[in-house]
Amino acid sequence: MRSAVARALDHVGLGRPSGFTHEVVFRRCPDCQEHNIVREDDFVCVFCGSDLPETWNVDPTA
Ligand SMILES: [Zn+2]
Repeated sequence: MRSAVARALDHVGLGRPSGFTHEVVFRRCPDCQEHNIVREDDFVCVFCGSDLPETWNVDPTA
């Protein structure tokens, strides 16, 4: 699980925070297609401010 998330971080070019925890989740913004790291259930795109879906929508094999 950790390695898969680490690869996802590499894929989106965000690096790997040293304080990384299993509670970090990702969402892809439906409007601007950027990948967001969602913290503390704050489902808002940091790039364009749109609401993010509460269900997983980031699938690297899609
Ligand atoms: Zn966005």
